[in-house]
Amino acid sequence: MRNLSIIHLMALITINKNNFHHNLNQIALKAGSIDKIAIVLKDNAYGHGIEIMAHLASDFGIKHAVVRDHTEAGLILPLFETILILGGETVEHDKYSYAINSLEQITAIPEGTKVELKVDTGMHRNGIKPQEVDKALELIQENGLELVGLMTHFRSADLLSSEFFWQQKQFEALRGDLRAKGFANIRVHSHNSAAILRSKIFNEDIVRVGIAAYGYSDLPACFDPILLKPVLKLYAHKVSSRDLKPGERIGYGGNFEAARDMRVSTYDLGYGDGWTRGDSAKPFLTAAGLPILGRVSMDFISLESEEQSICIMDDAHKAAEHFGTISYEITTALASAIPRVIV
Ligand SMILES: *Cc1c(COP(=O)(O)O)cnc(C)c1O
Repeated sequence: MRNLSIIHLMALITINKNNFHHNLNQIALKAGSIDKIAIVLKDNAYGHGIEIMAHLASDFGIKHAVVRDHTEAGLILPLFETILILGGETVEHDKYSYAINSLEQITAIPEGTKVELKVDTGMHRNGIKPQEVDKALELIQENGLELVGLMTHFRSADLLSSEFFWQQKQFEALRGDLRAKGFANIRVHSHNSAAILRSKIFNEDIVRVGIAAYGYSDLPACFDPILLKPVLKLYAHKVSSRDLKPGERIGYGGNFEAARDMRVSTYDLGYGDGWTRGDSAKPFLTAAGLPILGRVSMDFISLESEEQSICIMDDAHKAAEHFGTISYEITTALASAIPRVIV
């Protein structure tokens, strides 16, 4: 826990442990077991705070994690049995495995490193083409790497279309090929949050779950998604208060004009903290429905309130709808310097 005086200098993020564990439990029911969950903690755990979320996941019994690079892996090393590293420089550790994104990468990785072959079944961002899998297997052997996994990533698991099934079919075929070639003990995984939420039968070794664990789903309602609960809330604290007369205006550009006598306060959150600046003509409403008055500054916003502490956002999905983006971007943008506390 942090010292209270620090909390009052800055915005604050609270992490709801029960909600996080609720979400993990819902996912475990879908996946068949807690042991099958690989919690995706990349990018500071989607802005939730990688160390806090890693501890909470580990407390719940999660054994596998996925991160962006070895720096993130180093922060959570003691807490998991395996850590899949999606990119960056290779630093060897018995718990680490690296996603293979290209043939060139295979020859650049030090001998003995554990790798998971990522096959490009249609996303066309990263991974080996299905036709190049044999070549990749050859290079992996020649370079003395240890193949521990086969994976792919869906480009449209959250869309109501046949594309998901088309990618899934390709992956199934590859899985069969590798089994036939004698790679029986490698772990096989393709599912992200949207894929596991919509799946009826899950027969892979792990699910790489990110956004659903943090409480959000973008799946159309027809998939009958399970109830997920947002984990993060964003608070701001009062810096000062003042009285405004009709006609007085607030902030850069004076975009908000008081139409009546108002008591307003300045709060310590701004785009410097990763909060979206947005358009002051379409003000964001706080969790309690208060509009942000005028433009968002780098470190400050104004509200008609005198509360010491105000919950600005309790649902990133709603905020994403307001700002025309996705919940991932809203939470991931939140500055790592904002204190995070578990509630
Ligand atoms: C980020 C990521 C995930 C998690 O995706 P969610 O939609 O957040 O569940 C899974 N797999 C890979 C390869 C990723 O990069």
